[in-house]
Amino acid sequence: MTAPRLDINLDKIHHNASVLVKRLAERDIKVTGVTKATLGSPEVANAMLRAGINGLGDSRIENIETMRAARVPASMTLIRSPMLSQANRVVRHADVSFNTELDVISKLSSEAKKERRTHGVVLMVELGDLREGIMPDDLEHTVREVLRFPNITLKGIGTNLACRSGAAPDARNMSELSALADSIEATFGLTLDIVSGGNSANLEWALNSTDVGRINDLRLGESILLGREPLHRQQIEGLYTDAITLTAEVIESKVKPSLPTGEIGQTAFGDIPPVTDRGQISQTILALGRQDSDPSGLEAPPGHTILAASSDHLIVEPGLAVGSEITLQLNYSALVRAMTSPFVSKIVNRESDRIPVSAQ
Ligand SMILES: *Cc1c(COP(=O)(O)O)cnc(C)c1O
Repeated sequence: MTAPRLDINLDKIHHNASVLVKRLAERDIKVTGVTKATLGSPEVANAMLRAGINGLGDSRIENIETMRAARVPASMTLIRSPMLSQANRVVRHADVSFNTELDVISKLSSEAKKERRTHGVVLMVELGDLREGIMPDDLEHTVREVLRFPNITLKGIGTNLACRSGAAPDARNMSELSALADSIEATFGLTLDIVSGGNSANLEWALNSTDVGRINDLRLGESILLGREPLHRQQIEGLYTDAITLTAEVIESKVKPSLPTGEIGQTAFGDIPPVTDRGQISQTILALGRQDSDPSGLEAPPGHTILAASSDHLIVEPGLAVGSEITLQLNYSALVRAMTSPFVSKIVNRESDRIPVSAQ
């Protein structure tokens, strides 16, 4: 089989999404399935939809266009603030976009008018992570302006935490978002359909808090695709962490000293190699490198250790037969890099596809 390759198991993704949809439904929270790590794969999107997610979100308009072209039947939200230069594509292909800048919303409004469409806007609020978001004190003013734009509908408000600074979602910042929703509704006499609390990092808060307030939507990517919550990278109970795996092929297997020889400078990537002398060791080279994935986000199977990586080589202990394969688990960064690498094949399958004919 071709290597390196990502194996994407739709049954496991479906399972992960169903479990999360059910657990959150008990708290009246709906799930927006985030497809960006799969480059907007229509198969993955459809597996999430079959599991009961409410709509799809992606950070790239290109991925939303891919899903539209494949006729994926869902509401699509652009979850990164649109580029002015892409405003026309955004109103044509996305139903809703996340916004923080009035200049952008103004442009979306004029493009939507041109296209004879209405475009939904969710205003993102800054609650401590210092990535995207309107400062809470400026929200009322922004809402007032947004309500004046033709062909724009204010759909709701949202926030994003734990991405730039690791600021965790908690009772304090989530109740602040709820309070902002209440106050906007009271001030302007309107209803906000969407109060989007955040990403997979919000699960711990959402599943353990007794009162989720006004939060009625979470945008989940990593937890559905990789079965982990991003704050501590722990497996979420009952979810698969191997719905997507990366398999690479062995191209060298030799016994070598554990210490390099000669005067030691920096490596090709600027890090300093390790210095413990463990005598002779058996090491394997996999045909997989930084051009294919993020080696620091890869996890070798039990009994195997990743020793080092360069552009095209991953060094693993112990020795393994040339031509054999190793399957690794990935974190989000490793997944995104592998998905975007032209050198990595993407194999989408269902578990049932793998049952040999004779066993059916
Ligand atoms: C990527 C992203 C998400 C999904 O994050 P996960 O950690 O993969 O669940 C949600 N919201 C925004 C704004 C994002 O950029």
